[in-house]
Amino acid sequence: MHQQLENAMTSTIVVIGGGHGGAQAVETLRSEGFDGRLILISDESTLPYQRPPLSKKYLSGELAGERLPFRHRAYYDEHQIELKLGSRAARIDTGSRRVDLSNGDQIVYDRLLLCLGAISRNLTCPGADLAGVHYLRTVADVPAIQRAMQPGAQVVIIGGGYIGLETAATARKLRCEVTVLEMADRVMNRVAAPSVSEYFSREHCTQGVKLICNAMVTRLDGDTRVQRVVCVDGSTHQADLLIVGIGAVANVQLASEAGLRCDDGIFVDKYCRTSNPNVFAAGDCTNHPSSRYQMRVRLESVDNAFEQAKAAARNLIDRPTVHDRVPWFWSDQYENKLFIVGLSQGHDQEITRGDPATRSFSVCYLRGGELLAVEAINHSKDYVAARKLVADRARPNIDRLANPQVALKDTVEG
Ligand SMILES: Cc1cc2nc3c(=O)[nH]c(=O)nc-3n(C[C@H](O)[C@H](O)[C@H](O)COP(=O)(O)OP(=O)(O)OC[C@H]3O[C@@H](n4cnc5c(N)ncnc54)[C@H](O)[C@@H]3O)c2cc1C
Repeated sequence: MHQQLENAMTSTIVVIGGGHGGAQAVETLRSEGFDGRLILISDESTLPYQRPPLSKKYLSGELAGERLPFRHRAYYDEHQIELKLGSRAARIDTGSRRVDLSNGDQIVYDRLLLCLGAISRNLTCPGADLAGVHYLRTVADVPAIQRAMQPGAQVVIIGGGYIGLETAATARKLRCEVTVLEMADRVMNRVAAPSVSEYFSREHCTQGVKLICNAMVTRLDGDTRVQRVVCVDGSTHQADLLIVGIGAVANVQLASEAGLRCDDGIFVDKYCRTSNPNVFAAGDCTNHPSSRYQMRVRLESVDNAFEQAKAAARNLIDRPTVHDRVPWFWSDQYENKLFIVGLSQGHDQEITRGDPATRSFSVCYLRGGELLAVEAINHSKDYVAARKLVADRARPNIDRLANPQVALKDTVEG
């Protein structure tokens, strides 16, 4: 083990993907004392940056571009982290431990970490390739959207998930006319309780968004630019700008072509190891085990990317570290903050704490009396308490849980 560690500390580690996970991993490697060669490959041409503001304050213009990167260039230079920006890894040869870049360069590694993130799910209906159809995933996607989000512009957003709704809120702030088309019968239907969906639907409608559920888009019309969105029921929606927010899929192509096991994400164990002993993975691209929920999960969350990358970095240098956290996410829409702690699948009881009319309430999910997940709307105390209680598999007293006057942290007896 000691010999293994010595070697690991002086070898070459290559990280592919300069998003939340990749940026965190190189920082952790250096802070843990790794002093070998360290290379970060990113196909984006910018320094690693925070992605959440892209649909929020960066899109609205309230957050300046200089505030997006995690670190200045000097940090990477001082810590001898070789940045290969604007470089796409095209192929991994796990036999010769080599990464081929699309510019023809080749990099040999001792250990490799994949932080490849997720890619937006594409709209496939006729007209999907017209100009004026946009996706929002990288900072490079923003300027064209911002240019089109002029006051009075007709913005149609396909998808009422987090990104669609956050973008709708920002577009309203910029005084655009906004229509959201959601295929399901309620917004955020995969991630939130009906009462939470209802609360956010009402917020959007109050703010002037035209929100249409059960809307199945069949085609986009326009000569060269999108002009109209046509739904299966024959309804049409004028569009100067169309944003597609219909979810994302794990970015696994590079890994699967390299022969790594993939199954709704790159398959990793609790030590972030892939099916190849020298290759690790972290963040949105992984499918990993959760002991809390006794199942494998694929998450799209900043917290998961940061924490899994920290664990992966330590494992890369033979400091065994388990990644097994209760997931949590957040979303900002207008002045509302939604926190989701845990996973609610399989719940057999749902308790609402507080009245949505007060604009501050929480929905708690239980299974067999055990707290599985909490959705907290404008309620940071419940969010903080939920992180501990869900992780501890707490069994709250139901009467106390249903009473918003009792602090969530005090709902467990004994
Ligand atoms: C608009 C938007 C808003 C969001 N808001 C929130 C939020 O409010 N809260 C929250 O918890 N999460 C939010 N998320 C999700 C969050 O940003 C992700 O979960 C997080 O970025 C995942 O980190 P990651 O490192 O796994 O992937 P990413 O940050 O996506 O990084 C992956 C990187 O790898 C690069 N890459 C991929 N393939 C290659 C290759 N072959 N060669 C070189 N580079 C490659 C990609 O270009 C990218 O830079 C948001 C996401 C988006 C898009």
